[in-house]
Amino acid sequence: MQAVFAAPQQSRGARLRSAAVLAFHSNHFVLPLPAGHPFPMGRYAALRHAVREGLPGVRLREAEPASDGELALAHEPAWIGAVVEGTTSVAQQREIGFPWSEAMVQRARRSVGATIQAARAALLAGEGVAANLAGGTHHAYPHKGSGYCVFNDVAVAARLMQAEQHRHRRPGGRAAGVPPGRGLRVLVVDLDVHQGNGTAAIFRDDPSVFTLSLHGQRNFPFRKEASDLDVELPDGCTDRPYLDALNQALSMAFERMADHPPGLAFYLAGADPHADDRLGRLALSAEGLAERDRHVLAALGERRIPVAVTMAGGYGRDIATTVALQRRTVELAFAAWQRWQAGAAPSLAGAAADGTMTDPRTGFAVPHPP
Ligand SMILES: [Zn+2]
Repeated sequence: MQAVFAAPQQSRGARLRSAAVLAFHSNHFVLPLPAGHPFPMGRYAALRHAVREGLPGVRLREAEPASDGELALAHEPAWIGAVVEGTTSVAQQREIGFPWSEAMVQRARRSVGATIQAARAALLAGEGVAANLAGGTHHAYPHKGSGYCVFNDVAVAARLMQAEQHRHRRPGGRAAGVPPGRGLRVLVVDLDVHQGNGTAAIFRDDPSVFTLSLHGQRNFPFRKEASDLDVELPDGCTDRPYLDALNQALSMAFERMADHPPGLAFYLAGADPHADDRLGRLALSAEGLAERDRHVLAALGERRIPVAVTMAGGYGRDIATTVALQRRTVELAFAAWQRWQAGAAPSLAGAAADGTMTDPRTGFAVPHPP
């Protein structure tokens, strides 16, 4: 499913583009899980409900499933085949944590599809900010799933956007946000409390994708991979040290990417660093998590880096706590989208003779008004 944030018309920019920011979800595809299974499947429907009721500007649509070809950008054909055909072994299913079912395949495809669509909206449609109300399945490797993750949505979408970014090429010019002779660089900001081990492994030898992970040192996965930048936090970490570490990590990441800045980011806004999370082991408050989201979205917005936001993990003792935290993330993403749109309002001086408008900051063509 996809959610579209509809915003009030802006006085100048709105004349030049329709007002809509996008989020996507797939909560109609629910896994049949045995009674007592610890995965909170109900939170996806609850989040969609909370967004629909509490954020009236958001319009919801269903995400498209990712195709085999799209999945193959980050996964081995043998793994895609085993999942699709239902020939995964008991051990492989145990490592994922879900029993195989046709619904599991559908949900996994759409979870990736929703992140692809969010990335396209953010990068290619010039929305700047878009979201998947699920996704962030960062424990999936090229050849296997793990930790409730079947396919790695962000890895697939990152590679697909690198292949598709030429669609943003200015007429007769180079692609926006891409230095001459170089491809689209992607930044993954993974703030789920568990390390993004699958994502780190997929991009280990790929300098075009910078992986940043802040996670609990003593938490799953117990064998960590090497991200481009890993920050390990002790059990019980509270707001202030967390936000200080985040601040430092983001500065360091941008410094290390100075020669080839990112033109697209994925933000895994896991709710599981929260103090009441069953699996988190950290002690962030709701306000601390909101500050975290604001900080990341501001750091990207200031640099005009489009971002696809995914919800990633959240295992509150009370599911309503997790849903409230994620709803807040969506609300802050919406605010970031509004700032992006306000900043993107092109001046009339950008109008070409044929009436085509170009946003001076991004170089993206601006669609005609509807
Ligand atoms: Zn997690």
